[in-house]
Amino acid sequence: MNDRELAGIGMTSKRTRERLISRLLEHGIKDWTVLDVMRSTPRHIFLDEALSHRAYEDVALPIGYGQTISQPFIVARMTETLLAHAPRREGKPGRVLEIGTGCGYQSAILSPLVGELFTVERIRPLLEKARRNLSRLRLRNVRFRLDDGTMGWPEEAPFDAILVAAAPARVPEELLQQLADGGCLIIPVGAELHQELQLIRRDGDSFHTEVLADVRFVPLQSGKVQH
Ligand code: SAH
Repeated sequence: MNDRELAGIGMTSKRTRERLISRLLEHGIKDWTVLDVMRSTPRHIFLDEALSHRAYEDVALPIGYGQTISQPFIVARMTETLLAHAPRREGKPGRVLEIGTGCGYQSAILSPLVGELFTVERIRPLLEKARRNLSRLRLRNVRFRLDDGTMGWPEEAPFDAILVAAAPARVPEELLQQLADGGCLIIPVGAELHQELQLIRRDGDSFHTEVLADVRFVPLQSGKVQH
């Protein structure tokens, strides 16, 4: 991909992106570090060409395999929450785990804002697509794993923050155990049609839960990985 394709034209241009940023501001996103990264990240490269003209609408869109790229507002909200609550090392949350890489859009927003990003996806072609997208954007602090993310990434734990982009019926115990002391887990929880976005903070052996919003994510599938 050349610089012109990355910059975008027409419906993927800078002006169109700016309208998305205004909308995020109107809907209550306040953290300018998040807004700046979202402004400079070309969401259109994460989509198939037939959908790229809709890349800067504030909606979830299909990415194949029955999955979706998350809605920009939700990406912004989750990222803002993570930055507000995760412990920092040298100014940034140090080690962050993401479950549900999808096409890598949320990973691209997180990558510049954290020390190291670890991301887990269970569908191989999506993981490969995400790897290509992030490499095009020259984001190099990301490690990828093809696996069932319900189990977290035990070899790399503990994490200052864990962000989950697919909804389990209840919070996986493994993820709680892989949080560093003071760390936070941001996760949609519930049945397919009604989920709540939870912020769970670890304080020693206790966990404090706060409900942030009603949301709708694809389900977190446990078990077999799709190769
Ligand atoms: N954050 C992504 C959106 C992902 S949609 C983006 O910005 O594009 C949710 C993703 O979670 C899907 O790609 C789905 O395959 C993945 N997923 C579902 N269950 C999973 C599991 N148990 N482990 C890892 N990934 C899972």
